[in-house]
Amino acid sequence: ISSDNIKELNFEKAANGLLPAIVQDADTRVVLMQGYMDREALEKTLSTNLVTFFSRSKQRLWTKGESSENFLHLVSAAADCDRDSILVQARPDGPTCHTGDDTCWNDVNQGEFFDHLERTIQHRRDNPSEKSYTSQLLARGINKVAQKVGEEAVELVIEAKDDDRDLFLGEAADLMYHYIVLLAAKGYNLEDVREVLRSRHK
Ligand code: AMP
Ligand code: ZN
Ligand code: ZN
Ligand code: ZN
Repeated sequence: ISSDNIKELNFEKAANGLLPAIVQDADTRVVLMQGYMDREALEKTLSTNLVTFFSRSKQRLWTKGESSENFLHLVSAAADCDRDSILVQARPDGPTCHTGDDTCWNDVNQGEFFDHLERTIQHRRDNPSEKSYTSQLLARGINKVAQKVGEEAVELVIEAKDDDRDLFLGEAADLMYHYIVLLAAKGYNLEDVREVLRSRHK
C-alpha cells in the first residue's frame, strides 16, 4: 500500500471504517501485535513511517510508542486479497506488547525463542551493564568471543562421545548462546544466517 493506492482499500465495508492491521517484525517475521486503522491512521503511518492505529479505547489516532518510545518503524504495508485487512511489516525499537514482551502473542511465539534471546544479547551489546555476562564477554573483543565459540564446540564434540543427555544438551546450549553472541559482536544476526541457508535450500 502506498499513498497512491490507499483509496482502493475497503474502508466502507469495515465496521466503523476500521480495518484490522497486523504488525509483523520485518526481519524475524514474528507477529508482534494487531490494532485497527482508519484511513487517517494509515495515511499517518505512510507519511511518518511510524505505525499508527485508531485506538478504540482512546478514540483517537495512536502512534504505537508515543509514550513508551517503543515505536514501530514502517518497512511496508500490504492489503489482503479482498482489501479489508492490512499486513504491516515494521522494525520495533523495543518490546511491542505493553506487558514488556516482544510480542502480544508471546505464548504461541515460543518457537521464536532464539530471536528473543538474540534481541536480549543485542540489547546487552548496545546497553552494556556490569552485571551482564554477555556485556562483559563482548567487552573483551571479537577474538575472545570467537575463542569461546571454539571452546564450546570442542566441549560439545567431547560430550558427543558419551551418552549423558544433560551434559550434551548443556554444551549444545552453551555453543548456541556463544554463537549468537559472536554474530552480535560481528554486527550480524540470525536472520543473515537464515538468508544464506534459505538461498541454499532448493
Ligand atoms: P505506547 O504506544 O507503547 O507508548 O503505549 C501507550 C499505551 O498504549 C499503553 O499504556 C497501552 O495502554 C497501550 N498499548 C501499548 N502497546 C500495546 C499493544 N501492543 N497492544 C495494545 N495496547 C497497547
Ligand atoms: Zn480479507
Ligand atoms: Zn500486548
Ligand atoms: Zn560449555
